[in-house]
Amino acid sequence: MMSHEDCLFCKIIEGEIPSAKVYEDDHVYAFLDISQVTTGHTLVIPKKHSENIYETDEDAASKVFASIPKITTALKKAYQPTGLNVLQNNGAIAGQTVYHLHLHLIPRYEADEGFGMKWIERNDEFSGDDLQTIAQKIANEIV
Ligand code: AMP
Ligand code: ZN
Repeated sequence: MMSHEDCLFCKIIEGEIPSAKVYEDDHVYAFLDISQVTTGHTLVIPKKHSENIYETDEDAASKVFASIPKITTALKKAYQPTGLNVLQNNGAIAGQTVYHLHLHLIPRYEADEGFGMKWIERNDEFSGDDLQTIAQKIANEIV
């Protein structure tokens, strides 16, 4: 398995650093986030090292996402959250602190939360034409 010497999460996969394991298969490893923003906060990672979403390949990305329904279903049965966020950070500005691709599963309960989202809707700033222009600019780059 490709691993990176100084990568914390590669060391967790290899058992060199302890973790609270939730799930493992040939391609995916899931364990509790050490900081538990809510109870059951889980990280899901591909065993194949990549820094972020740009570096990973389709196969590793599909394997990780394919594991999400069964892990979140287990989490729901175990802790009965009333909601759940799947979060994946790329780059320091987006909050990434560990540079091995990971998905956060963040169960949401009532108001006890250690996690929140600021989501400001700016519908009045973008016309339908603006959206078409933005979409086209991105679509033009898809290979
Ligand atoms: P991010 O900020 O998206 O890069 O997420 C990295 C996450 O890894 C943070 O939420 C940390 O709490 C978590 N983390 C760091 N070290 C460990 C560790 N040894 N075991 C489990 N989770 C960790
Ligand atoms: Zn790694």
